[in-house]
Amino acid sequence: MSTTTAPAADTLRADAPAARAVPRHVEMSQFPVVDGELVVGGMPLSRLAARVGQTPFYAYDRNLLTRRVSELRAALPTGIELHYAMKANPMPAVVAHMARLVDGIDVASAGELKVALDAGANPAEVSFAGPGKRDVELQQQAVASGVLVNLESLREVNVLAQASAQLGLPARVAVRVNPDFELKGSGMKMGGGPKQFGVDVEVVPELMARIASAGLAFEGFHLFAGSQNLRADSICEAQAKSYGLALRLAEGAPGPVRFLNLGGGFGIPYFPGEQRLDLGPIGDNLRNIQARAAKDMPQASIVIELGRYFVGEAGVYVARVVDRKVSRGQVYLVADGGLHHHLSASGNFGQVVRKNYPVTIGSKTASTQRETASVVGPLCTPLDLLADRMDLPVAEVGDLAVVFQSGAYGASASPQSFLGHPACVEVLV
Ligand SMILES: *Cc1c(COP(=O)(O)O)cnc(C)c1O
Repeated sequence: MSTTTAPAADTLRADAPAARAVPRHVEMSQFPVVDGELVVGGMPLSRLAARVGQTPFYAYDRNLLTRRVSELRAALPTGIELHYAMKANPMPAVVAHMARLVDGIDVASAGELKVALDAGANPAEVSFAGPGKRDVELQQQAVASGVLVNLESLREVNVLAQASAQLGLPARVAVRVNPDFELKGSGMKMGGGPKQFGVDVEVVPELMARIASAGLAFEGFHLFAGSQNLRADSICEAQAKSYGLALRLAEGAPGPVRFLNLGGGFGIPYFPGEQRLDLGPIGDNLRNIQARAAKDMPQASIVIELGRYFVGEAGVYVARVVDRKVSRGQVYLVADGGLHHHLSASGNFGQVVRKNYPVTIGSKTASTQRETASVVGPLCTPLDLLADRMDLPVAEVGDLAVVFQSGAYGASASPQSFLGHPACVEVLV
């Protein structure tokens, strides 16, 4: 038995020196390869597929989730609270696992709130953000369950004021601030300039006055500048600026700041040429902020909220090759899964230029017989593409195609009913 790690997708052949400058995917070293086969959750992939009983499926490795949280805790100063933004992966078993590991769960709808509470999350440690919270979500569900609401508008204050009076419970609130800066280098910007998220920093004083007059329980601030950032320096800059902004706003706050959510945005490497985020500078920067906060806002807990960073690298999407076609010299591996289960790997979930996720043939990962092939799904659209002309182990019908970095924004972020193919299954192993 030989144990190795998965070679990076796009591994270059030694006889192709001209291709050396081509950027490569980082090594998917989180999954071992035993006897040539990828191992997920301690099980060879073909056996796992048999255990699941069908393809396509998503598998999330629970030990990798646990390891990720402990590695992050080791890199960040003690006392920094970690929240899981569960929209990245709302599978109930994943949320339950994460709820035991982290300090809080961030939800973005009453549906997610139910999953978090069912999973055993402590309502005191749940926060609820998102534009367009409906009255019923705010009034009954959020106030009655006692979670913290990250306010995104004046209207929300008014709805919560009514609910608080009716239920005899002051709503717990923090102000989500739309800052006057952006997170440089992030894949998705969610703060700065005109945005539907949060309250413009200019309007926050007025909002805080209204919170005070309505008798709501003010707890602090939430700043989220953006997502999928692989540059430690820009994350540090955004966190330092967010801290400075919160400090300024705290002067006019209706009460002491107990909760200071500085956002997250930690990215994972999806595409060729991307490297894993360096946590060292982020830990140092947070140590600095923590020391300042101990003097400036002694009651504040500092929170970092992360979705994909916790779960993304722990998951794979697995689809079986159902046909192998050669069209005018180009190899197409047609799989039983695709865009309808994994919109983001197909390149249609916010990417400007389509690039390949790391992909391999999991049943033959270590094979030295390789070829350039495209992995496509069963849908009647050219958008249904999981791998575009990648260097892959030679695959036949029945082999298992694997998309790495699939633990976040997968099943729940895909149009599963598009074209009427069967839904995928998700397992936590
Ligand atoms: C989506 C979202 C997150 C999670 O983003 P990731 O890129 O998955 O870490 C965190 N906070 C807020 C407010 C979000 O909307």
